[in-house]
Amino acid sequence: MSKITQVPDTLLYYYALLNRKKKVTASESRQFERSFKGYLGEKSLASLLSQFESSKILPLYNLLYEINGSEFQIDTALVTYNRVYLLEVKNFFGDYIIENNKIYSLNKRTQIYNPVHQLERTEYMFKKLLAKLDITTNVTSYVVFINPHFVLYGAQVQSPFLFASQVDIFLKKIARQSRPLSQKEYLLVEKLTQENIQVSMYDRLPEVQPSEIKNNIACVYCFNNIKKDNSFYFFCPSCKKYFDNEEVILQTIYLRYTLFPQEEITVGNISEWCNGELSKHTIRRVLAKYFHVHRKGRYTLYSFKNENQHKNFLSSYIIEKAEEERKRLNLPLVSP
Ligand SMILES: [Zn+2]
Repeated sequence: MSKITQVPDTLLYYYALLNRKKKVTASESRQFERSFKGYLGEKSLASLLSQFESSKILPLYNLLYEINGSEFQIDTALVTYNRVYLLEVKNFFGDYIIENNKIYSLNKRTQIYNPVHQLERTEYMFKKLLAKLDITTNVTSYVVFINPHFVLYGAQVQSPFLFASQVDIFLKKIARQSRPLSQKEYLLVEKLTQENIQVSMYDRLPEVQPSEIKNNIACVYCFNNIKKDNSFYFFCPSCKKYFDNEEVILQTIYLRYTLFPQEEITVGNISEWCNGELSKHTIRRVLAKYFHVHRKGRYTLYSFKNENQHKNFLSSYIIEKAEEERKRLNLPLVSP
């Protein structure tokens, strides 16, 4: 959990939905953008954190807990000697002003949600969790605005905000001042990991029916339809990228599986999902290479060799997309 190598399940689901659905709703698009931006912010912070010794700062990401029937989420928790820092990471962009604890956009004067309210609740709930786990430590919380193109006028120096330019200095200061982690902190990390619940009761992903899915093959980067270029390659006219047959078959299987994990993986099904654009011979060859083969009478079924096969494969495109976006936005990143 301390390293981000796979993208979160919610992001993966919306990604598959936007790629495969015939008619994507505005809300589904928004949800995708929101989870993608959130992921980008966390990845950027994780990268900054990677330069510090893990003997002094142990980061935990994407934590979700339930206390007395209420859920709360922590973007990032930094476990240090005798203190836990809770960080709420925001990837906001543009010029804003804060007045009487309310945040407005500078030109339109429209109010946006002040993340401090959420932060206060998170800290309150986290302290309850620590009491339940019978652990005493100090807790300090910050809202981290990771995007360097975000300005908040009127913010007080002692406010719980950390801006992009301050994050690195803040982390260096913690690393310099902290003592190495003791047995107590390792126990805390273990307990926090055990208590972490995976799926939120509010995380209702939109249900989709197979009839709402298109069979046209869409680009894994821009979601526009791709065309067969010759018998070996497909081509995306928007991105100018080429995909070979094997890649297209695997993309199709994994995107479909993300949305409908109960569907059978057979040559016939895949041929249909690929719009009949690939020969059954090619599909069979790719399946035999990457999947377990099960023969049942006249039928041949295929199954995953590893349960995270689809996540690992699709995450690489989303990570690549995130990397392009990061460069465009000039978000901080330390190369691993
Ligand atoms: Zn494309």
